[in-house]
Amino acid sequence: MRIVMIGSGYVGLVSGACFADFGHDVVCVDKDAKKIAKLEAGGIPIFEPGLDQLVAKNVAAGRLRFTTDLSGPVGDADVVFIGVGTPTRRGDGHADLSYVHAAAREIGAALKRFTVVVTKSTVPVGTGDEVERIIREANPSAEFAVASNPEFLREGAAIEDFKRPDRIVVGIEDERARGPMTEVYRPLFLNHSPILFTRRRTSELIKYAANAFLAMKITFINEVADLCEKVGADVQDVSRGIGLDNRIGSKFLHAGPGYGGSCFPKDTLALVKTAQDHDAPLRLIETTVAVNDTRKRAMARKVIAAAGGDVRGKTIGILGLTFKPNTDDMREAPSLSIIQALQDAGATIRAYDPEGMDAARALLPDITYVASPYEAAEGAAALALVTEWDAFRALDLGRIKAVMAAPVLVDLRNIYKPAELERLGFRYAGIGRAADA
Ligand code: NAD
Repeated sequence: MRIVMIGSGYVGLVSGACFADFGHDVVCVDKDAKKIAKLEAGGIPIFEPGLDQLVAKNVAAGRLRFTTDLSGPVGDADVVFIGVGTPTRRGDGHADLSYVHAAAREIGAALKRFTVVVTKSTVPVGTGDEVERIIREANPSAEFAVASNPEFLREGAAIEDFKRPDRIVVGIEDERARGPMTEVYRPLFLNHSPILFTRRRTSELIKYAANAFLAMKITFINEVADLCEKVGADVQDVSRGIGLDNRIGSKFLHAGPGYGGSCFPKDTLALVKTAQDHDAPLRLIETTVAVNDTRKRAMARKVIAAAGGDVRGKTIGILGLTFKPNTDDMREAPSLSIIQALQDAGATIRAYDPEGMDAARALLPDITYVASPYEAAEGAAALALVTEWDAFRALDLGRIKAVMAAPVLVDLRNIYKPAELERLGFRYAGIGRAADA
């Protein structure tokens, strides 16, 4: 199949490279000329494990190309995917569809023969109808079908997720889209990944419902963690105790500083807005959004309490800035709110992250970036572990303690054992663990 991917970000580049690896002929397009120049020069604009080798292999095989100009490739394509961003619109919380609409207009103008146009971006219910209208307006004689194919990959494990998805969801209104979409994903369902064909609006809603459910699950265990702290229970065991029930499942039950990232915050908000507009409010998700928002600054208060109740003039060390490990993505990372609240309270911040510091610099200009976890701990009144990178799992705690102003570890991901830390002479604060756990 000849595939064009519009938007070469986390989703577009991974999907494009994986489609090429399946044997399809893929052109990845992006408006960002610097991104395309970097890709053409053999570089990768984002950090995603394994992506550099996958891209290099498929470029060398002649199956993957990059360009800023979609017109030629779209004219020749069997399937065109829209994988551009759909951030939160300023002011009202709805998804900003301006990039999707602009891409649809450009695609419309470039279509030359029957083509399936697919929204892979996460888009609100009804966006497919609008994409169809825009293309028709741009090119009244074009032959095309608009499908929805939401993406479920997770950053940090994106290639594995793309190649072994739990399911593939495709929403169509025009039967002519079924054949090409089946062909695009044939290698995956040969590997037993189920493909669910449904109507387009249903497919669009599946993506938001999935993300909202996962965000709700995280928020549930976070609230249970707060209760654990009050009643002397251990959330790690509560999580295991409920997660072993197959009806509940153990995933997304890790208590922490609140969900962040490029998807959950914006998608929960957009779903809440859609539901309100249709007079079918999703109160569980409205509450999820509100609880998660307040949680991040509450984490800063936890750090302040652990540091003795006042951080003015003190240094706080931060381990991990990205919203989760194995990515350089800083979008809506909990570290942003936590650090801001600590700075508001008068603290000076020293931070280390294995991959996120370049992206963080633009968002957090007033902190000191250092080259190792040990440097982050230097002179600190407390060290807060915010992102659970593997590099933080086996720290030389003796060395950390020796350089700190006071041996205080606030482990917002519960990766250390309280008793061990206390034996080493630390004051330890985790999430949802009673002080003597
Ligand atoms: P991103 O910001 O990393 O990438 C989007 C890219 O699109 C940018 O490089 C931008 O320059 C480009 N672009 C914008 N308008 C364009 C146009 N008209 N023509 C060509 N290129 C254009 O975003 P992302 O994280 O890859 O997310 C893309 C979509 O996928 C979003 O809707 C997101 O919700 C969804 N999604 C993301 C993830 C994830 O983990 N990042 C997972 C599932 C779904």
